[in-house]
Amino acid sequence: MKIIKTVKEMQAEAEKLRQAGRVIGFVPTMGYLHEGHLSLVRIARERADVVIVSIFVNPTQFGPNEDLEKYPRDFERDERLAEEAGADIIFYPSEKEMYPAGYLTYVTVDEITKTLCGASRPTHFRGVITICAKLFHAVKPHLAVFGQKDAQQAVVIRRMVKDLDFDMEIVVGPIIREEDGLAISSRNSYLSPEEREEALSLHQSLKMAEEMVRKGERRTRDIVDKMRKLIEEKKRTQIDYIDVIHPETLKPLEMIENRALIALAIFVGKTRLIDNTIVEV
Ligand code: AMP
Repeated sequence: MKIIKTVKEMQAEAEKLRQAGRVIGFVPTMGYLHEGHLSLVRIARERADVVIVSIFVNPTQFGPNEDLEKYPRDFERDERLAEEAGADIIFYPSEKEMYPAGYLTYVTVDEITKTLCGASRPTHFRGVITICAKLFHAVKPHLAVFGQKDAQQAVVIRRMVKDLDFDMEIVVGPIIREEDGLAISSRNSYLSPEEREEALSLHQSLKMAEEMVRKGERRTRDIVDKMRKLIEEKKRTQIDYIDVIHPETLKPLEMIENRALIALAIFVGKTRLIDNTIVEV
């Protein structure tokens, strides 16, 4: 497995692969790899000839009081896990490489970045979209694989790719969970045992919502109220948002008519966790 640290070298390698007719699959990550990331590497492995994983903790997507400094990092472990899962190349640029002194350009997507996570993290998506655009120019992938765990991110990146005519496909892989249902996240490592227990309420509330829909409930307000209650029963939780929205437009839904995305962000202690499910009637 190759490790490439500069944009120039990455572009040269990608160009060589393209010239040779190889299909490039790309999995962008912030490292501290877990089963969620590795599942995306395996999807890329099935669909592409060459799999490139990027590891970059992107400072521009963190707000001023967020966890950039303490975000977990372990490159040696990532290297081993990525290789085992089938990665051929790790793109591992430094902060200076991606944002050299004098850097000024940002990419934004309107409207769909203002709700859900964008409401409480107003500069987050600008950072995510900018780094994805830059990574796509470095890696020149035919397809990039994102996780449904970050449902809004996947919708936003799809929109950027469509609107800016990036010649590539966006593939979305399912949410990978721990055995007890907690969606796997690098940020789960921040949770104390008590918080870890209470964090199960995210998944539990989504399961309850699925059950309500299955039994015929269509009014989103009633679903959200019940979810809210279940989560607020825990001592250490604080709700950022619980929303029922259209899975593609992200517009709020009053009634569930066919497909709906139920998404939530909850603070458990100081850790902000997200999760979601898609329901269909
Ligand atoms: P991150 O390193 O948190 O930026 O995540 C990199 C990619 O992995 C994103 O596309 C995430 O949506 C995806 N991802 C993170 N956690 C999971 C999970 N539990 N299941 C599936 N995909 C995930």
